[in-house]
Amino acid sequence: MTDRKRIIAGNWKMYKTIEETVSFVSNLIPLVKESLVAVYLAVPFTAIRSAADTARGTNIVIGAQNMNDASEGAFTGEIAGKMLKDAGAEFVIIGHSERRKHFRESNALINRKIKRALLDGLQPLLCIGETSEEREEGRAEEVLENQLLEGLDQIGKQDLLKVAIAYEPVWAIGTGKTATREVAQEMHHRCRDFLAKRGVPADQMSLLYGGSVNSDNIRDFMDQPDIDGVLVGGASLSLESFVKIVNYSPKD
Ligand code: PEP
Repeated sequence: MTDRKRIIAGNWKMYKTIEETVSFVSNLIPLVKESLVAVYLAVPFTAIRSAADTARGTNIVIGAQNMNDASEGAFTGEIAGKMLKDAGAEFVIIGHSERRKHFRESNALINRKIKRALLDGLQPLLCIGETSEEREEGRAEEVLENQLLEGLDQIGKQDLLKVAIAYEPVWAIGTGKTATREVAQEMHHRCRDFLAKRGVPADQMSLLYGGSVNSDNIRDFMDQPDIDGVLVGGASLSLESFVKIVNYSPKD
């Protein structure tokens, strides 16, 4: 067992209104108050303020799913890290595969967003992961290494300690196909080892698995030595399934 922070994070994507969010968070509070892990919820921008107000003083941490890399400016429709912080967000997902795919986010842009999030006092949760084609071509490791190297480029050690990383194989997101516990453990171990060899304090950083995690398979991942938590999409939208995931029973 390590002293790395254990995190179970929900990513709500483009789901839930303010009213639905407040109802979810209010009902969640008493059900996860004994949890041994930190409970993170990345909610839609519009619901951050109400979610943070509802969760204040509890073990539930509210965050966002994306931000711009500039501090402010003429970027119609975008949102700045300091606005997220002002609304009550404490962390922000950066580089989710849906953003890399639909919005063509590059590793360089993701790196700038991480730096900005740190400046704005938000904990970045960097997502990395290979596509099924990249895996079939035997390039999974190379892709992850580039995402890590470029995504974390020129970030000092103290700041790196604030970053959490989610390994989310793209082929496992929203597909019901998870990586096996052995593959997930192996990939996390390789990432940690790769970072450590480059002077990154990876042994102190939380590495999460993401991709079709649910209440039936959560334990498979949480029991692995290099997996410190999970990032959950679909199964975090239902209170019942998210509570079961957070309150999973660890191996004795
Ligand atoms: C995600 O969106 O980060 C994710 C892992 O989604 P799902 O759990 O639905 O696969």
